[in-house]
Amino acid sequence: MADAATATPIRGSCLCGGVAFELAAPPLWMSHCHCSRCRKSGGVTTVVVRAEHFRWLRGVELVERFAAGPAWSIVRCFCRVCGTYLGEPETHPEAFAIAANALDDDPRVRAAFHEHVADLVPWEEIGDALPRFAASPGGVDFAADPVR
Ligand SMILES: [Zn+2]
Ligand SMILES: [Zn+2]
Repeated sequence: MADAATATPIRGSCLCGGVAFELAAPPLWMSHCHCSRCRKSGGVTTVVVRAEHFRWLRGVELVERFAAGPAWSIVRCFCRVCGTYLGEPETHPEAFAIAANALDDDPRVRAAFHEHVADLVPWEEIGDALPRFAASPGGVDFAADPVR
């Protein structure tokens, strides 16, 4: 199934261009997360990629890591220069959540669901008919304890 479309890397970068990365294959899925951690970091929409499909292209020395607590899912990466939220790479042995806001290329997946809608704030509205989960829908367990 390695046709040209799936073999083309999907690139991403920060606002200042100092940090860039690529996904060697389309993400497993895209979702909108409404938890307060995603909201405050500016990364409501994320794509989940297999760990081996993510790599930094440049600027890894500019990546700032913010670990707000014990769960691996809140080790968040930002560009130190421009503040762009990059997601949560390097934090799970199997899959990384990457910030869709940092993508430059079409990830070739579309949002499949909303998660953590229990944390939705009053000024946020969901305007589509995608499935909604009160917390995480499962799959890769984002709420799991730290793996390192
Ligand atoms: Zn930057
Ligand atoms: Zn979240």
